[in-house]
Amino acid sequence: MGKDSLLHNFAETAERVAATTKKLEKAALLGAYLREQNDEDLARAARYFAGQQFALKDARTTNVGSSVLRDALSEVTGASVEELRPRYVRLGDAGEVAYEVLREYKREALQPTITLAETESLISQLSELRGTKNKRALLTSVLARATALEAKYLVKLLLGDLRIGLKEGLVEDSIARAFETPLAEVAQANMMLGDIGETAVRARRAELHSISMRLFRPLKFMLATAAADLDDIARTMPAEFYVEDKFDGIRAQAHVEAGRVALYSRTMDEVTHRFPELEAPLATLATLAADVILDGEIVPARGPEILPFTELQKRLGRKTVSEELLRATPVVFIAYDLLYASGRMLIDEPLELRRRLLEELVTDEEGTLRLSRARRADSIATLDAEFDAARGRGNEGLMIKDPRSSYKPGRRGREWLKLKRAIATLDVVVTAVEVGHGKRRHLLSDYTFAVRRSEEDPELLNVGKAYSGLTDAELAELTEWFRQHTLQEFAHGRVRTVEPQIILEVTFDRVQESKRHKSGYALRFPRILRLREDKTVAEIDTLEAVRRLAENG
Ligand code: AMP
Repeated sequence: MGKDSLLHNFAETAERVAATTKKLEKAALLGAYLREQNDEDLARAARYFAGQQFALKDARTTNVGSSVLRDALSEVTGASVEELRPRYVRLGDAGEVAYEVLREYKREALQPTITLAETESLISQLSELRGTKNKRALLTSVLARATALEAKYLVKLLLGDLRIGLKEGLVEDSIARAFETPLAEVAQANMMLGDIGETAVRARRAELHSISMRLFRPLKFMLATAAADLDDIARTMPAEFYVEDKFDGIRAQAHVEAGRVALYSRTMDEVTHRFPELEAPLATLATLAADVILDGEIVPARGPEILPFTELQKRLGRKTVSEELLRATPVVFIAYDLLYASGRMLIDEPLELRRRLLEELVTDEEGTLRLSRARRADSIATLDAEFDAARGRGNEGLMIKDPRSSYKPGRRGREWLKLKRAIATLDVVVTAVEVGHGKRRHLLSDYTFAVRRSEEDPELLNVGKAYSGLTDAELAELTEWFRQHTLQEFAHGRVRTVEPQIILEVTFDRVQESKRHKSGYALRFPRILRLREDKTVAEIDTLEAVRRLAENG
């Protein structure tokens, strides 16, 4: 096994993976490379091939945008930003631009020296540095000693996507091949460990079967798809299904064992300290079952009365939670799923069983720890009335769930459908921005947005453009962000393509077929409902959701 692997070898493997379109070949090439690495480099390489700078469970980010990378490249090569710009347009990839420019500026004499360990240290330093200036200085010093090929992959990695046709699933596949382990075991371990790097190391040590779900290691959350209308629900659900209120709060996973309670947010950050009043009620669960993992929602509520989400937002902005704040904005935990209990992993069990066990643990419907009531329905006839009743209780709408469904971490399927408003909504990502008009002429306020081609295929397809719905303060902050994360500028910066990271929830009057956008659809009268900072581009809606909305008129 090699010592201190070089980024150069990683990059060469990546080039070979990119050169073939055959998945099997990609997995074989990657598997052979991974087998050669020592444990630490194996973990690093597996993460980097999956396009991840850190383990997924690790909340750190480097927040390096394409413009700071471009500035560093310009500093290292002496090529002006104006010289670089057309290359981004032509090559469409910041890594390719770095490669081309560094080669032209005759740096062939450099020997590859950067190791994967140094790459890791660079990434972690970048996550600690504040301010564009500091980040640029560090990047400049690294790019100055990078070969063209090293720079290409550093840049790609820092932008979070190698673009070599590898997804996390295929990296799992390569690990399975390299260490002769069933793919299902690798995928399951990765999900539970939240780290493809550690998964690879454990696969090599043949330790995967011993990884059972562990407390205090959050799992990804199962997601829901918006129902187009009631008929969509009737078509999708079996004869009998569950109907629950959809609570407007913060999704949270509670891990409980005797003497310890932890709450994790959707981004897998621990948020326990923000909600001190939930600890004691959750701790009582440990007297009923040995260990417990609950999925649910933290909702502002005073007794039985659900308070508006804006109340909770007041609390989120604060660093410390004062007694006064606790009194002014009390929260409760509403449990709707049980993922683990008394040493037994439940995610592969049907929801019906998980609910039955949950109902034994949490019975109260009005306390600080409460149960989300699930009613069994066998027709959509009552759903209109149920929707109004849920709204009357201060909730957002309804969740409809298939009792047979297993819990699928990180997946947005049709086994959970959400019915939010009388109108449908889509979660989309901003791909291009434009300056506005009138008093918004100094702001990048017009947004073109996209959905994913499918759950499996992350290609982004534009579906519409929206001008309204955000506050001026939000627009000002976003304008700055978009300037920092511009991919290409047109019309002197009045139009920009941007890194697809800003997620919006949009509504519209109708979805129509249209040739205007690549998706083949356009939204009529789109409006932005809110920014979804809690979501990533992997969690936005797909073309399939758009198609259904179009079919339903
Ligand atoms: P959305 O965030 O609009 O995609 O809707 C899905 C979210 O609804 C989930 O991530 C949960 O945070 C939330 N939610 C509220 N009530 C429920 C419920 N009863 N079951 C599942 N998810 C719920």
